[in-house]
Amino acid sequence: MANKTQEVGGIHFPFPFTPYSIQKDFMAELYRVLEAGKIGIFESPTGTGKSLSLICGALSWLRDFEQKKHQEEARLLETGTVPLSDGQEQPLSLSSSCTETPDTLRPVGEPDWVTQFVQKKEERDLVDRLKEEQVRRKKREERLQQIRHNAQLKYAAKRMRQEEEEMERVLRLSREALAAGAGAEPREQPAGEEDLVLAEYESDEEKGAASGVDEDEDDPEEEHVTKIYYCSRTHSQLAQFVHEVQRSPFGKDTRLVSLGSRQNLCINEDVKTLGSAQLINDRCMEMQRSKHEKSRAEEEKPKRRRQERQATCPFYGYEQLQLLRDQVLVGVKDIEQLVALGKEARACPYYGSRSAIPAAQLVVLPYQMLLHAATRQAAGIRLQGQVVLIDEAHNLIDTITGIHSAEVSGSQLCQAHSQLLQYMERYGKRLKAKNLMYIKQILYLLEKFVTVLGASVTPVEEGEARVPRPASPLMHIESFLAALTTANQDGRVILSRQGSLSQSSLKFLLLNPAVHFAQVVKECRAVVIAGGTMQPVSDFREQLLACAGVEAERVVEFSCGHVIPPDNILPLVICSGPSSQQLEFTYQKRELPQMMDETGRILCNLCTVVPGGVVCFFPSYEYQRQVYAHWDKSGLLARLAVRKKIFQEPKRANQVEQVLMEYSRCIKCCGQAGGTVTGALLLSVVGGKMSEGINFSDNLGRCVVMVGMPYPNIKSPELQEKMAYLDQTLPRGPGQPPPGKALVENLCMKAVNQSIGRAIRHQKDFASIVLLDQRYARPPILGKLPAWIRDRVEVKATFGPAFAAMRKFHREKSVPS
Ligand code: SF4
Repeated sequence: MANKTQEVGGIHFPFPFTPYSIQKDFMAELYRVLEAGKIGIFESPTGTGKSLSLICGALSWLRDFEQKKHQEEARLLETGTVPLSDGQEQPLSLSSSCTETPDTLRPVGEPDWVTQFVQKKEERDLVDRLKEEQVRRKKREERLQQIRHNAQLKYAAKRMRQEEEEMERVLRLSREALAAGAGAEPREQPAGEEDLVLAEYESDEEKGAASGVDEDEDDPEEEHVTKIYYCSRTHSQLAQFVHEVQRSPFGKDTRLVSLGSRQNLCINEDVKTLGSAQLINDRCMEMQRSKHEKSRAEEEKPKRRRQERQATCPFYGYEQLQLLRDQVLVGVKDIEQLVALGKEARACPYYGSRSAIPAAQLVVLPYQMLLHAATRQAAGIRLQGQVVLIDEAHNLIDTITGIHSAEVSGSQLCQAHSQLLQYMERYGKRLKAKNLMYIKQILYLLEKFVTVLGASVTPVEEGEARVPRPASPLMHIESFLAALTTANQDGRVILSRQGSLSQSSLKFLLLNPAVHFAQVVKECRAVVIAGGTMQPVSDFREQLLACAGVEAERVVEFSCGHVIPPDNILPLVICSGPSSQQLEFTYQKRELPQMMDETGRILCNLCTVVPGGVVCFFPSYEYQRQVYAHWDKSGLLARLAVRKKIFQEPKRANQVEQVLMEYSRCIKCCGQAGGTVTGALLLSVVGGKMSEGINFSDNLGRCVVMVGMPYPNIKSPELQEKMAYLDQTLPRGPGQPPPGKALVENLCMKAVNQSIGRAIRHQKDFASIVLLDQRYARPPILGKLPAWIRDRVEVKATFGPAFAAMRKFHREKSVPS
């Protein structure tokens, strides 16, 4: 792949090949947004090379930004001032993330000599800071350079590892010998009671450990350089992005660090095998604490020797972590490569990657880590003056809501109460008064929570309480209590009283996700939210950005077309079926037998003209099940099966892959066999397991059918609260529906757009998109389709012309060009 540099508007964008014009526009607009410190909403359909445009656009900006910053620094260090364009001179304040802007607000009436003195001092401080930064940067560059070119270091590390392994082996043998002598002792002894007594309560305990560096180490804190935080939804999306960076012209010399959870990154087999994220986190934290306590105890020469129960993690050593940190920074690595490197260096990748954040230029991380303030803090992420790119952001509002909502069941409340009560009874006398008071407060709250669920706390027998559970119910209680600290107007508690206490629950529902996003947009230099389908954009503008206090002028929207030729798609809205039945799949009408029959007849007709795969989306599992049963009884399934083999979306997630494999194998075989069966029909559900993240490219999806409009259930208390909240807080635009109603429409169209966007995945792909419901023909609804579909959509009042258009489209497209 030959790298090419593209010049767009005087800016040079290195790119691995000649970009499409929409990619050039994307990069240029992205550059402008980052440079001007704006908030961008970017839409670029899947298959248009969005990731590459994000990488090359953003890293080109960072390259120029760093260059300018270094030039400014050099000028300042030389003169202490920079010339203004009119020839005068002014003191410089750099826009670096770590450089504080000098406070220019002086008390009124302050004498000139004081002002001058303060100004001079600020300038001197700034120069000193810059010098320090330069020294640190130089040192880091030298270190990284050395790692790149000096293979000996690797050998030294290897030697060190071998020695450590040998030592560990000897220690293990001697431990085993001791254990054998002492009888059949368990491998890990039960906790000594002293360990269980709470130390003086401290919050943010993870903060100290997050850097991966021991507190007592004399290591100056690394400079947080200006960087780009890229986040996406899943680990596979993040891995894909990292691979794109590796293949891009920036792959060789970008300092990239991938962040993940302990569950993904832990290399301590004893801890990793605990399985659940909660248990891994707890065990790891326990070991860090034990390490810190141990070093404190050694210093203080303890009066009593504690048992050696709490082993420290062998991968959490200062030198190993430093070495790993530098190795992380010299080459772009995904999570798997990071784990492999950690194993080789015998250093923890979780802490090693975190300690690389300050010097990294690009930090790749999952949503949760960036959008949750406490997690952000614990990971050592600082957003001040930085750039954030949020990809696959079509569900951003729901994601923020989900991260900050919390639910506890009645049985969790009872278990937590019982555990805490037993703890207090056993250790109460030895606890500090303040800690005892906190425990009593929590117990009181738990009792009251159970009371509002219509029951009372039942004592859990001691033996029962000792049964190991996957994770402590107290963690759920903690997040529920944390959620309750949100302001009243921004959240609601949903009380669900069911037949039994264990099925009843309390749920905190966040109504205003903007409160948590406000800090991100306030601190960051620029934020870009990007996705393949961002329509309807109004939700982002109103619910997220306006409510987070972002002025409308700071928001930039960019939507690019598709790379396919316009005639490679045929989007149709069909208002009535072959027997002239009006298509309107409302709750009242959709269960009528004539509606289900008409839908079946439409599919039968479409399957005769569409080659390969047809994917048909239903608004819910329940409706799909009803329709399937009806077709089975009426014989329609048998008629459909003449043309297409029928597959249904499986109920369990682990069966999805199997169904997809069989579906694709069937399409392939039918294409070669040339019989009456021309492919397969997949009956799927909107928002189900197949409506997101799965590609129906080429023959896998030559036609996507959407049966009805998948409106969410407006009777759900969550949605009703949210609608009422929006009606109260958002202004209603002239000629617009009330904000609550607009939300329902937007949720529906977002789901439709996600599902129908699955069919076109690359430049040579083609597909027809059939929307079955006359309500799609309404202009406000059409306006919520992605631009590249909206511009081509044809509304067909009757089925005849629609069928003719389908036949013509597929006949023409199926002829090899
Ligand atoms: S320090 Fe790292 S390797 Fe050790 S237990 Fe914690 S996450 Fe696992």
